[in-house]
Amino acid sequence: MTVGSGPTSPLAAGRVEELRVALAAVRDRLAAACAAAGRASDEVTLVAVSKTHPAHDVRLLAELGVRDFGESRDQEARRKSGELADGPQLRWHFVGRLQRNKCRSIARYADCVHTVDRPELCDELEDGAARTRRLLRCLVQVSLDGDPVRGGMPARDVPALADRISAAAHLELAGVMAVAPQAWDPARAFGELHAVAERVRQQAPAARVISAGMSADLEPAIAAGATHVRVGTALFGHRPPILR
Ligand SMILES: *Cc1c(COP(=O)(O)O)cnc(C)c1O
Repeated sequence: MTVGSGPTSPLAAGRVEELRVALAAVRDRLAAACAAAGRASDEVTLVAVSKTHPAHDVRLLAELGVRDFGESRDQEARRKSGELADGPQLRWHFVGRLQRNKCRSIARYADCVHTVDRPELCDELEDGAARTRRLLRCLVQVSLDGDPVRGGMPARDVPALADRISAAAHLELAGVMAVAPQAWDPARAFGELHAVAERVRQQAPAARVISAGMSADLEPAIAAGATHVRVGTALFGHRPPILR
């Protein structure tokens, strides 16, 4: 006997139910955080971070109305975006560390790259985006504590990188992104990110995106003005460890 895992099997039905419940809970958290901050809930976009989870999960969440998905490795993202090209139009957000030699590939399927953190990436992203003849939205990743492991530009260097993105013909400076340093109070981290975002908006008024907040800290992020939250675990459950 084979145990099916196709869309009509009991296993898949159980997964739909799990995702439906998790999505409702996350949407409730978003709505409550927006209400507490005096913001409209449509000001915040939920990016479902699907890294390590199968394309089938993405398909099920898309059927539940989610359109924005986040991935952190090029090969996996490229495969999933290809597999799902026949369904509803999805927006792919690249949220992982950028390697220079992957930028051209990422530019082909990504709508928004959240992790631009050094000038030399801009030429590669521009090159890839020019081939697709469309605008690639880019966020400057800000390092709030200067720890090189997580990536990101120190706040003082953000304006120069933002200018570099703005100057590229096929890149659109859309805003900023950060991950709160683990040892920090998230309210302080996201408050500092908000200040960096304000400075970028003085340079480029259209750069309104603040990508901040994950499963554990989306409330303080929304309180500090996040427009995009990147949620993985709270939607899909725990990830298997990533083997590199
Ligand atoms: C994995 C990841 C997320 C999602 O984190 P969760 O804690 O699972 O919600 C968000 N942002 C980035 C940059 C990530 O790499």
